[in-house]
Amino acid sequence: MPHRFPALLAAPPAAKGRLLLVNARVFDGERLLPEAHGRLLIEDGVIIDVGSDDLSPSEGALVLDVGGRTVMPGLINCHVHVWPRLPTPLRGEEPMLEGTAAHFIQDGLRETLRMGVTTLRDVGSQEGQAQEARQAMRRGAFRGPRLLTCAKIISSTAPGGRFYGTMYREADGPDDIRRAVREQIRWGADFVKVMATGARSNELEDPEPTQFTDAEFAALVDEAHRLGYKVCAHAEGHDGVAAAIRHGMDTIEHGMYLNQREDLLEKMVQGGQFLVPTLTGYYFMAGLGEDVVDPADGVPAPQMGAMLVELARHNLEEGTKTMRMAQAAGVKVALGSDGHTEPKGTAFELVRMVHHGLSSTEALTAATKTAAEALGLAAELGTVERGKLADLLVVDGDPAVDPALLTRRERIWLVLQLGAPVAGQALEQEVGRLFEAKASEEAL
Ligand SMILES: [Zn+2]
Repeated sequence: MPHRFPALLAAPPAAKGRLLLVNARVFDGERLLPEAHGRLLIEDGVIIDVGSDDLSPSEGALVLDVGGRTVMPGLINCHVHVWPRLPTPLRGEEPMLEGTAAHFIQDGLRETLRMGVTTLRDVGSQEGQAQEARQAMRRGAFRGPRLLTCAKIISSTAPGGRFYGTMYREADGPDDIRRAVREQIRWGADFVKVMATGARSNELEDPEPTQFTDAEFAALVDEAHRLGYKVCAHAEGHDGVAAAIRHGMDTIEHGMYLNQREDLLEKMVQGGQFLVPTLTGYYFMAGLGEDVVDPADGVPAPQMGAMLVELARHNLEEGTKTMRMAQAAGVKVALGSDGHTEPKGTAFELVRMVHHGLSSTEALTAATKTAAEALGLAAELGTVERGKLADLLVVDGDPAVDPALLTRRERIWLVLQLGAPVAGQALEQEVGRLFEAKASEEAL
């Protein structure tokens, strides 16, 4: 029996019946298919055929002409923090109520789906918020991306435990760590996240030493893998990355100094481990906002102290170099932005990956096929092929030529979730036309 991902159990209902997309250019997760007028047949939310005009005719299918636009797998972001972007009231204005945050989380998730992102992996948020949002989506309150979560991040007793609210479960010693793993699964985790090293986002943590001993890491990985869950490792310094690789953790997050250790990159290739480069996180910490620039060109508006901003700039250089070397060495690179639930965060990460040296096709693959593999969902998601779930994105234009299209809301023509049209410019235009028609009728 396959692993029971809470994220899959919480899926919205699939569209019923057959949908035939015609006149499509298809990016299948790896390459653009040769057919200029491709067809794609979906039945009950699953892709059942992809091909050219000679695709067997399908009786009773609803036919949708996508007008030569690009059909591709919905985008997948492997490293986000489900976090509300809360406005800060001015002095004297009513302070934010606690429960208001959930509405802002919903807003972020809805808009993220609107931008063509159909799967998110939450790698740490405030207690219960990701699970609550997921439950609300499952029960029909709103549509958002599929949501995998780690529940709480497992950290040793460390300074970070004082910085990030309820995001960490501090654990020490092998037995406590096993218990911590079990607790996350109890709370609906899809995978286990561990701080293999400290974090560069707080001034008290040193990203160099490992956070745990070998015995502790071994207990964590054993417990997670024994129960069928993948392990996602926050790892910065060499010792932590080496430990994560040695213990068989499945995805290495950040790993920005790996360019200095070709031996470790080689081990990742052999072990099939994934690198999630998280360039957007460095941009944010360096105060580079949403611009796609080299650190030297940036207009800094940092929100962090000088020491951490300096470190973020250094990390952006190191991290981009590592991304290029990892890709060249054959390490599987998966997209992860390390931002909050920012609707355009995934597309900006993709554009940054290209700006810093990947080809557009490599970056698109990192955001689809390889990302699904990193999550353990390659059988369900990430490519446009027979048998995959129809979580799809129809883009106006060719993102393999111009990936920045994906940052533009008006170019996200249609988003399908299990074959159901759930967001996109096409739907909004349709409604707009309806109102226009009514208005002109009344004018007669
Ligand atoms: Zn992160």
